[in-house]
Amino acid sequence: MSSTVIQCGTLIDGIADEPIRDARVVVEDGTIRKVGPSESVSVPDEADRIDHSNHAVTPGFLDCHVHLNGTRSFQPMERIEKSLPYKAALGGADLRQLLRAGFTTVRDVGGSTAIGLRNAVEDDEIPGPRIYAAGRAISRSGGHADMNQLPTHWAGDEDRMLGVQADGVAECRKKARQELRSGADLIKITITGGMASKGTIPDQVHYTDAETQVFAEEAHAVGTHAAAHAYGTAGVNAAIRNGIDTIEHAIGFGERGEGVDLAHEYGAVVVPTLSAIYRLAYEGDEHGLPEFHVRKGREYVDKHADSVTRAYEADVPVALGTDCNGSYLHPHGDNAIEFELLVEQAGMDEMDALKAGTSVAADAIQAEDVGAVEPGRQADLVALDEDPLADISATRDAVAAVYKAGERVDDRI
Ligand SMILES: [Zn+2]
Repeated sequence: MSSTVIQCGTLIDGIADEPIRDARVVVEDGTIRKVGPSESVSVPDEADRIDHSNHAVTPGFLDCHVHLNGTRSFQPMERIEKSLPYKAALGGADLRQLLRAGFTTVRDVGGSTAIGLRNAVEDDEIPGPRIYAAGRAISRSGGHADMNQLPTHWAGDEDRMLGVQADGVAECRKKARQELRSGADLIKITITGGMASKGTIPDQVHYTDAETQVFAEEAHAVGTHAAAHAYGTAGVNAAIRNGIDTIEHAIGFGERGEGVDLAHEYGAVVVPTLSAIYRLAYEGDEHGLPEFHVRKGREYVDKHADSVTRAYEADVPVALGTDCNGSYLHPHGDNAIEFELLVEQAGMDEMDALKAGTSVAADAIQAEDVGAVEPGRQADLVALDEDPLADISATRDAVAAVYKAGERVDDRI
């Protein structure tokens, strides 16, 4: 058995409200065994030593909303022109960026490549974060995951698209089961319109209660969870009320006082993806996004931050997600921008923002063995040159080292 002792200047364990100054973490075979102030944690004989006494150490970061399908632009034709193997190769390159940025666990919520990438990482064939993959997102015909900018027969080429279509209760059940059959870790649906889909309206609800319930039922029946892309208040509330576990984007959350009680009653988690709308609204033009897409972003950017603030102030769990997809607008490796926006736009304090991207995120996606520096969990750790409690941008600008299961994975050595 190999033991390693990691000396930490400051330890933020992902759960406690206060950091531990001068802390020690003992790792055995990739698992955390002991954690505490240095004077209370003894060093095992012949242990290897890693010195982060000048660093702040946190759990590895989690991003609960990414797309690993090798997107580089928002042009719909990209989906047709690039082959699936090429997109998977780009997704594999993005995994390295995620590790370098400290993201040791991600959840992919729609695409045809993430299940294969997940398996290749698990088989130790390629480096990458732990991946939880939804398979393809399920939307109704003409819904957000139906590429309605393209002719119907192109958009129907399911392997090239982020989503598949299902209409009516029976078909919804079948598609959910088929995605699980293909290896999906969870079910992802789009219950409202969205930004990138031409002609859909974010405030409109796309699935009936009966259809939505089927997705939640099928996920829960196999011990996993369901996620819904939901923008407007009606869609957000319908998703929660019908048993969906994580509410993605959730721009209308808590508007007119609705939603907070529902979220408490059903135990829903909000995954806001502030950075997606923020970048779209403020940087979409320069990246050549279509006018309708940028206009929708500007319409919703302030409302979005307000909804996260409402969730935060009402103690509804908020988990970090970005919607990073590898595009030039929203590249992988820059995911920690979300920590900054949770603090600066939504008013979270730094410690709570860090929890959103560690222990709260781990709970939200059923990744119970990561997300905290605690005995029994995997030794996924990030060492930062600066203290993120003093300046949250350290999570993006000051990553010094990243460990996954106790192994250094950031390519900086
Ligand atoms: Zn997304």
